[in-house]
Amino acid sequence: MRTHRIAAIPGDGIGTEVVAAGIEVLQELARVDGTFELAFEHLPWGSRYYRERGTYIPEGGLERLRAFDAIYFGAVGSLDVPDHVSLWGLRLPICQGFDQYANVRPARVLPGLKSPLVNGGDIDWVIIRENTEGEYSGSGGRVHRGLPDEVATETSVFTRRGAERIHRFAFELASRRPAKHLTLVTKSNAQRHGMVLWDEVFFAVANDYPDVRWDRELVDAVTTRMVLKPKSLDVLVASNLHADILSDLAAALAGSLGVAPTANLNPERAFPSMFEPIHGSAFDIVGKGIANPIGTFWSGAMMLEHLGESAAAARLLAAIERTTASADMTPDLGGKGTTASVTRAVCDALRSA
Ligand code: ATP
Repeated sequence: MRTHRIAAIPGDGIGTEVVAAGIEVLQELARVDGTFELAFEHLPWGSRYYRERGTYIPEGGLERLRAFDAIYFGAVGSLDVPDHVSLWGLRLPICQGFDQYANVRPARVLPGLKSPLVNGGDIDWVIIRENTEGEYSGSGGRVHRGLPDEVATETSVFTRRGAERIHRFAFELASRRPAKHLTLVTKSNAQRHGMVLWDEVFFAVANDYPDVRWDRELVDAVTTRMVLKPKSLDVLVASNLHADILSDLAAALAGSLGVAPTANLNPERAFPSMFEPIHGSAFDIVGKGIANPIGTFWSGAMMLEHLGESAAAARLLAAIERTTASADMTPDLGGKGTTASVTRAVCDALRSA
C-alpha cells in the first residue's frame, strides 16, 4: 500500500473547519480506493500559537515540514494580529522557503452553481501566479518612522530566472489543455523595468512552444475581458500581485470564493508543495458551521494529482461535481447547507461512485 505523509496546517478562522472537513473526505476517498493511505500529521501553527509563543513557525519547523510529501493548508489571519505579520509569519515563509514558485488556480463554474455572469458557463481558466518574487518579494523598508518625513519603499523584484521558470511552467500547462492558449498578463506600459523583463522573457520562452497560441494583455484590460468575454481566455500567467487580484475575481465569477482551490507547487519536487483554498480566515462566519468546504476538497484533489494519485483525484472531482449539482450547498451559494452536510454529501457520493 502506498502511503503519503501529509502535514495538515489548518491555521486560523474557518481554515480549521474546512481542513477538518477536507481530511474527512480524503480519508473516505483513501478507504474506498483501497490502494493508498494518507498519514496526516496535524501542526497547530496559527495565530493562537503565535500569541502563546511569539512565532508562527517554531524553531526547526521548516526542516520538519520538509520531510512531508505535501502540505494541506487552511488559512492564516486573525483579528488581533496585523495581516502582514500573520501572512509573513506562516504562509509566505513556506511558499518562499520551499520555492513553491508556481501557484496554480483553476476557475470553472461547477455543475449546479451559478455565475453572476450570464455567460459564466464559458469560464474555464487556470490562473498561474508567480509565487516567490515580484511585488511580494518583501524587499523594502521604512525610515524616519513616525516622523513627518517618514518614507516607505516596497520594491518589486523580477528576475530573469524567476520569470523564465514561471512562463515555462505556464506554457507546459497550456500545452496540455485542449485550447492550448496562454495569455501573458502584464503592466509593462507603466512599469518599465521589471514588467518589461517579465514580457521579454515570455516572448523568448514562447519560441519553444509553437503549438501554444498566446496573447498579451494589460492587467486592467484583462479584468474586462474576464467579465465580458470569458471564453476568450484559457490559461493566464501573471505576477504575484496581479494574479492575487485576478484569482479572487475569477473565484467570484465562478460562483463563490468558497469553491476556489489553489496549489503552491515546487515543480522540481525538491520541497513539498502546499494545497489550500484561496479564501482566508473569514471571521464573519467562523464557528457557525457554514464555511463552504468545496474549495478545500478541490485543493485536496489537486494534492492527490500531485502525489501521483490521478485516478483518486478524478474520483474526488466527480464526487464534488455530483454534490454541487444535487446537494443543498452552503449559504455563500444561496443554500441552507452546512460544512458538515456538504462533507457528508461528498463522502456519500464517493461511496456510491
Ligand atoms: P484574507 O485577507 O486572508 O483573504 P478575508 O477574511 O479578508 O481573508 P476571505 O476570508 O478570503 O477574506 O473572504 C471574504 C469573504 O468571503 C468572507 O468574509 C466570507 O464572507 C466569504 N467567504 C470566504 N470563504 C468562504 C467559504 N469557504 N465559505 C463561505 N464564505 C466564504
